[in-house]
Amino acid sequence: MAMQPKIKRITMNDADFEIVGLSSFTNGRSCSLHAVCGLHVNPGDVLRLKATQVNVNGESEPAIACVLVDRGVDTCTVAYVPRMMADQAKVKQHINKFVMVVELYNDSPSTYKRSKSHQNLGMASVTMLTEDGGRDE
Ligand SMILES: [Zn+2]
Repeated sequence: MAMQPKIKRITMNDADFEIVGLSSFTNGRSCSLHAVCGLHVNPGDVLRLKATQVNVNGESEPAIACVLVDRGVDTCTVAYVPRMMADQAKVKQHINKFVMVVELYNDSPSTYKRSKSHQNLGMASVTMLTEDGGRDE
């Protein structure tokens, strides 16, 4: 094996992809406990990716929802995988599996991320987890 000039640093910020719509209440992101379910998500929370249909401008189309998992039980739908990401094989293969919230962009020190989050109604980065809760490499 060739010498590596740099060692890849794996941290909590080692995110796999981003999710959107945490501060929106449409398409099921509201329940009897929360006006906006996605506002109750924190870094470290576990979400399950779930295939579903959403209403976009009056048309039903396939989407991947992010459902908050509390003690092994699916609870609120909190966000969606952006359509461009939802079409990627690695994300499709992860449907019904878990991801963990890495960073909420609304709370990011980065102006760029906060602005991007504002445009996408609340964004977070997530990392994929294996069934037993470890990192999926
Ligand atoms: Zn809720």
